[in-house]
Amino acid sequence: MKIMFNKPSGSAHHRDDAPRVRLTGLSAGYPGRPVLRQLTASMVESAVTALVGPNGSGKSTLLGVVAGVIRPTAGELHFGEGPPPAFVPQRGAVGDRLPLTVRQTVEMGRWGVRGPWRRLTREDRAAVEGALDRLGVGDLAHRQLGELSGGQRQRVLIAQGLAQESDLLLLDEPTTGLDPRARRVIQTLLDGLAADGVTIVQATHDLDAARSADACLLLRDGRLAAQGDPGEVLTTSALAELWQPL
Ligand code: ADP
Repeated sequence: MKIMFNKPSGSAHHRDDAPRVRLTGLSAGYPGRPVLRQLTASMVESAVTALVGPNGSGKSTLLGVVAGVIRPTAGELHFGEGPPPAFVPQRGAVGDRLPLTVRQTVEMGRWGVRGPWRRLTREDRAAVEGALDRLGVGDLAHRQLGELSGGQRQRVLIAQGLAQESDLLLLDEPTTGLDPRARRVIQTLLDGLAADGVTIVQATHDLDAARSADACLLLRDGRLAAQGDPGEVLTTSALAELWQPL
């Protein structure tokens, strides 16, 4: 198993079709529970990649591998140049009843840089303000997380990821449970971030989000069933399997 990082080459420009993340023959899972099997795939720079697949197909596990939380058991994981990824947790995984304000939640994005409970530097504050503004939640900065709508809370969590100042944002079902309007808002924000040079990788059950992504990775039972243009990956038979009624 190898994990490799490219050294900065001094070039500030992203190449259009360069992979920000490349997996080669990658396997990973949990003790006694192999999940991902021999995955070879890439996630293109400054683009939105949607991870789609039925429940249990390994989408979250793949995000965990790229986030560095789950160690691959075989294969290679290769990162293009850039800072470590920022992981945006699932909305449901974040305690809505924690007595945290929006600003405090976004400030937690700086802990990885600064360590928890340290005083924020001017640079930290600038990163937090920038992220609050970018996600349009600056005017909610003093509100409690628990008072917000699902869409607002999701924007705060993305702002927390953005405050880490990574160019690689990993999201686990950011639009699940949101109404169509809130979903579109999140999708538009993610598209805008990609246009600004952030590589977006999102696990999603949202067909509109998957269709509007630049690329799809379709997982089935821990294997890569297809990858490429959403129009080609999301075939009728793939959709029938993915979006069958419960
Ligand atoms: P998806 O995100 O596509 O729903 P997951 O990556 O969450 O799929 O899960 C893939 C498989 O790994 C499932 O069978 C799931 O039960 C199993 N799994 C997920 N998390 C753990 C864990 N912490 N320990 C053991 N097995 C897990």
